[in-house]
Amino acid sequence: MVTRFAPAPTGYLHLGHVANALYVWNDARARAGHVLLRIEDHDKERCRPEHEVALLEDLEWLGFHADAPLVRQSERGALYAEAAAQLDRQGLLYGCTCSRRILNPPSSIPHPPSSPYPGTCREAGHGLTDDVGWRVRLPDDEIRFDDQWCGPQVQVPAQQCGDLLIRDRKGNWTYQFVATVDDHLQGITDVIRGLDLLDSTGRQILLGRLIGRLTPATFAHHPLIMKSATQKLSKSDGDTGIRDLRAAGWTRDRVLREAATRSGQPFPL
Ligand code: GLU
Ligand code: ZN
Repeated sequence: MVTRFAPAPTGYLHLGHVANALYVWNDARARAGHVLLRIEDHDKERCRPEHEVALLEDLEWLGFHADAPLVRQSERGALYAEAAAQLDRQGLLYGCTCSRRILNPPSSIPHPPSSPYPGTCREAGHGLTDDVGWRVRLPDDEIRFDDQWCGPQVQVPAQQCGDLLIRDRKGNWTYQFVATVDDHLQGITDVIRGLDLLDSTGRQILLGRLIGRLTPATFAHHPLIMKSATQKLSKSDGDTGIRDLRAAGWTRDRVLREAATRSGQPFPL
């Protein structure tokens, strides 16, 4: 059993991360598995080295130790380029010149559901240059998997998101792509993460298949810590930042207990 903890250094560690880390490390411990630490710094605009330093320091203070040296997605560009080339050899990639604004026009409601990519550039013949997005043609397969928390799932990625963007116009590899490539190359057998990523799973299984993963990982999407009944916790909620809790005198045990009880885990474990 090999699982991973995969924070993006776009902010400080918060209670939601700690809840996820508890699920990940407890499951790995119970099954004599390994935890890999993967820094998801694929987005050059949003990630900061000082956030990585702080994340590592907080993890250390909390006592979460990985079983192998950490990997940084920002250092794995050659692997992503090779996976992209593999898709390209199958004729699955095309360039997309659509802007985010055209695809998701500004809306008056706070969280408009994002609509699937309509396939505007599918047959336009744009090459894979640096100034366009790169998309992968998704077959309309129905993906079935048995989530360890949520039970049997059926997802049709072609309808949910349409052709997936794997690289944006600024040259950043996208989360969906790099997470899929790394879960495959790192031999991750179990993906344990929050419920907010349940919808991404079908597309990651399908994309995994296209880059040569024969057997998908097992997935477990656990409950999230909520800010309120309807609002999920975000990095801007300073009240749950581990930095702030430490500064306010919280002990390690108190932080772990808070994260455990607020996400439905027994404590002590
Ligand atoms: N980097 C992602 C996050 O911070 C985790 C993605 C995953 O576990 O697949 O939410
Ligand atoms: Zn397009």
